[in-house]
Amino acid sequence: MTRPPSHVPPTLRGAALLHDAHFTKGTAFTAAERDAFGLRGLLPPRVLTMAEQAERVLRNFRGKPSPLEQYVFLSALQDRSETLFYRVLIDHIAEMMPVVYTPTVGEACKKFGHIYRRPRGLYVTVEDRGRVREVLANWPTRDVAIIVVTDGERILGLGDLGAYGMGIPIGKLALYSACAGVDPTRCLPILLDVGTENEALLHDPLYTGLVRRRVRGAEYTALVEEFVGAVKALFPGAILQFEDFATENAIGLLDRYRNELPAFNDDIQGTAAVTLAGLWAAGRVTGRGLAEQKLLFLGAGAAATGIADLIVAALVRDGLSPEAARDRCWFVDSKGLVVAGRADLAPHKRPYAHPHPPVGTLLEAVEAIAPTAILGLSAQPDTFSEGVLRAMARSNPRPIVFALSNPTSKAECTAEAAYRFTEGRAVFASGSPFAPVELFGRRFEPGQGNNAYIFPGLGLGAIACGATRITDSMFLAAAETLASAVEQGSLDRGALFPPLEKIRSVSALIAAAVVEVGIVEGVARRTGQSAAELVAATVYNPVYRSYLA
Ligand code: NAD
Repeated sequence: MTRPPSHVPPTLRGAALLHDAHFTKGTAFTAAERDAFGLRGLLPPRVLTMAEQAERVLRNFRGKPSPLEQYVFLSALQDRSETLFYRVLIDHIAEMMPVVYTPTVGEACKKFGHIYRRPRGLYVTVEDRGRVREVLANWPTRDVAIIVVTDGERILGLGDLGAYGMGIPIGKLALYSACAGVDPTRCLPILLDVGTENEALLHDPLYTGLVRRRVRGAEYTALVEEFVGAVKALFPGAILQFEDFATENAIGLLDRYRNELPAFNDDIQGTAAVTLAGLWAAGRVTGRGLAEQKLLFLGAGAAATGIADLIVAALVRDGLSPEAARDRCWFVDSKGLVVAGRADLAPHKRPYAHPHPPVGTLLEAVEAIAPTAILGLSAQPDTFSEGVLRAMARSNPRPIVFALSNPTSKAECTAEAAYRFTEGRAVFASGSPFAPVELFGRRFEPGQGNNAYIFPGLGLGAIACGATRITDSMFLAAAETLASAVEQGSLDRGALFPPLEKIRSVSALIAAAVVEVGIVEGVARRTGQSAAELVAATVYNPVYRSYLA
């Protein structure tokens, strides 16, 4: 069965139409539509406008006692009425994104089985070995443009949440549609259930996944291989986004599949692009270009080294040698400064292991290396301590401080700490949102280095041009477009990213830039129209269309 795309009128009638989340307009069905589709009597008599419905949604949303209740409420709306859900989400994106995504989605994942209402997405388990294609074929349409898949092992900074991780692909895909306009009927969230090592979940009577320990090694690899093969066979051309895999798998799967289908890893590449954009914007504040920065990362996992790799690519493109570019990037992991003499380094860290005596702590590293920027991707809260921040402030007129770990509870420091301990001089960005801070007689409005500034636009562009691969140049182009979309007014307020309210227009610019790269690099299957036209023709807009001829 194929589901019609959004612009095709329904063939359903009566209660089936009313309860179809994709086609329903609820109380907004007009009198003529109620007659034509057998709806008369099935709805309260008064016809409401979409704006009136949205107002009701908003009042209910704001009346909920907690963000988790708001999450449950919005999920129910998404299940009931997709168009209204996206209308409200788009029109109130700054207010609702922290509920649909980090930080609240983290809370929702932790309690996924407890707040569970209706199924959404596909579950492929290790017990499906040999029939994964059959499972994927149960999805009600072959018209899939984008898949977000996780195995739940490293959900945000919260660790192994097993099948409860399904909240992440669902939330990410909602952002694809809300922030860029990817048609929600063409989005497919998938959870690969290979078990969990999370003891609490293994003993949770409401756990929704397989109650078993994680499968690893050859069995794991074979399942993923079968899964990717089935994706290619059933949904040819679909983008496959790997999400929240543990470091080794995240890096390994990206390397294995990025040249086989249009695949990418948002934790590695999306994070890299949004952070690079933030650094370019920070350069406009500090007056120092990227080549003049010395960056010290706390955490040397998939996200951190992914950022460094893209920074190196940008610097090399600007004329630096790869060695000189890598010399700008330093790392502290759980065992101290990453230096050449260490025997315990995973392969992805080795390019950044510079000759240097061993250094144990972040504070000592800040004092030894004198970075211009510190970037936290360790999921270790409060590691950007008062001492670290004061040390940064001593050696930099405008220290760059990016506390990027999610959710908020894992951030390396709060926005307030960053400003307070640098006498208001920090150029700050975070992974999860922080409220504005009033300090030293000033108001700071820190910007969120949210991947949502990158992946929706990138995905839209890749879909629009039918990209056969997702290339590094696409991420560089996305980062450049984002950085140049930041207005001086935002920088003056302390924000390194555009306001979220502008995210759809920024995503459209990013999408067009990605299409152009796709065409130049020869990976675009659709050409012949301008990039902007291709993008405009792909964008989904949640409006009620008339169902009458
Ligand atoms: P990861 O597990 O691959 O990496 C974590 C790293 O932190 C590892 O290298 C580990 O050795 C290191 N670490 C752990 N404890 C440490 C300590 N005490 N001191 C120094 N280093 C320590 O995970 P990841 O995918 O790289 O993600 C890390 C964090 O970044 C998560 O919280 C995630 O939410 C966040 N993240 C943020 C964004 C964003 O804001 N845009 C995007 C992606 C990831």
